[in-house]
Amino acid sequence: MDFRARFAPSPTGQVHIGNIRTAIFNWLATRHNKGTFLLRIEDTDLERSTQDAIDKLLECMKWLGLDYDEEIMYQTKQSGLHKQAAEKLIETGYAYKLNPAEEHSPILFKLPYDCDGMKFIRQAGPVRIDLAPGSAVQLNQAGVVYNTVSPKGKTVENAASLAGFKNLEILGADGSVLFRLDEESRKALPSNPQEKMTVENCSALTFLRREVFYHDLVKGDLAKPLDSMKDFIIVRSDGSPVFHLANVYDDMQQRVTHIVRGDDHVENTYRHLFLFEALGFTPPQYAHLPMIVNKAGKPYSKRDGDAFVGDFREKGFMAQALFNYLSLLGWSPGDDREKMSKEELVEAFTIERALRSPAQFDIAKLTNMNALYIAELSRDEFMERIAPYLEKYCPEAVGSPLLEKVAELMHSRTKTFADVAHWTYFFRSPENVEYDAKALKKFLSDDMIRKSVEEFASGLDALPSCTAAEIESKIRAVEEKYGIPQGKLNQPLRIAVTGSTIGAGIYETIELIGSAGSASRIRRALAMKNE
Ligand code: GLU
Repeated sequence: MDFRARFAPSPTGQVHIGNIRTAIFNWLATRHNKGTFLLRIEDTDLERSTQDAIDKLLECMKWLGLDYDEEIMYQTKQSGLHKQAAEKLIETGYAYKLNPAEEHSPILFKLPYDCDGMKFIRQAGPVRIDLAPGSAVQLNQAGVVYNTVSPKGKTVENAASLAGFKNLEILGADGSVLFRLDEESRKALPSNPQEKMTVENCSALTFLRREVFYHDLVKGDLAKPLDSMKDFIIVRSDGSPVFHLANVYDDMQQRVTHIVRGDDHVENTYRHLFLFEALGFTPPQYAHLPMIVNKAGKPYSKRDGDAFVGDFREKGFMAQALFNYLSLLGWSPGDDREKMSKEELVEAFTIERALRSPAQFDIAKLTNMNALYIAELSRDEFMERIAPYLEKYCPEAVGSPLLEKVAELMHSRTKTFADVAHWTYFFRSPENVEYDAKALKKFLSDDMIRKSVEEFASGLDALPSCTAAEIESKIRAVEEKYGIPQGKLNQPLRIAVTGSTIGAGIYETIELIGSAGSASRIRRALAMKNE
């Protein structure tokens, strides 16, 4: 069988990582199965779906290499077909107007009472529901409204589709049957949704419970009692089709065989199964993905940190790294591989391997993965990739004769391209280096340290050019002279030369900056500390 999956985003703003993960899973499953990957833009929310949002989405897919087959389907262009489908559903008895007398009435889908033959319906056994004593039950061909008492003693109104109550009997206080639902009595119920038949003084309902069920490729067997479902709107009073109808109709038209989407759509699926049936189409297979969550287990949002694909791109994450990381967010190849190329992912990806529990977003893990991808770049590729980030975050470096050497030194330590923001000290004149005041205080207050740092600077004056190895032995010699433990001068020197506590190895850094420049920086740092 042909494998056809789609990504069906609602373009209402920036692209959230959760959404793009859905796209990635669909894409991987399709490419694995040598199927067809479709893109459908569900742009029916006219107030929130903007061209800008659509452009961002397409750009984002392009960046990640999520190529699609066939033309993009824009859902707004389908609305004529959706309305025709709704009319057809009315004709076939699967839908009705909420206010039959009004021309512009919402249209509701009718959960069919005669549904026993449907593949996704099963019987779950007899049920008795005790009612609020003496309360009334209202019925019509669409549904049943009844009152129960909550554990706290409150009267609660319940409403559900008539289809949920096979062989319904409404009992009176003495247990007698006040109403029995059969072929004949059902036909006699008001067909106008605005009218209801009332049965007074009831005590309980008994009926045969039926369930809607399906096998979810990720979540396993799922079911929902039909008596907890209501008929639902498919066309609004302004004539616009509702998500359920549009989504299902378009899946049918695009001949989708597999729906992979977020598990916030599980509840919709129980309704969609009926819609597919009513439209005469075999329902696709479903795979609902658990949410991406934060450390507290709550849905991951902008409040938890960067949540949009554009943010990661801007911060210097590589598309391959983000793709790889998101592929593993809620899916595993079944072995301990983590860094996987697209080809390896396609080869290994089956949707059944998606995990059932929510996936926790971990920026540190993504950053480390990004570093692995950056480390693999050739020197030229690295230079090319950092160019736009240098312009933005380290303009001093652009055109500097030092740049190539700095890049070579820093390449293996670069976790995201935006890290170039920390390279400025290489390119500034000694008087323009910015110092971290706290670090200065912490590492350059001790007299003995200050003296030895000063002595090291004087030694540099005598060494007009020096290599990292020479610098290292010079530092060790000063440490020895002052009885300072080996290596203890590295950090004070790093602050003095670079202004910061993080960076590449201090010997290589001093070699690159040069002895004269380093000596003046050290003196300036010592003077600053004295101020
Ligand atoms: N437009 C829906 C969403 O973004 C798509 C649902 C689906 O994939 O069926 O949530």
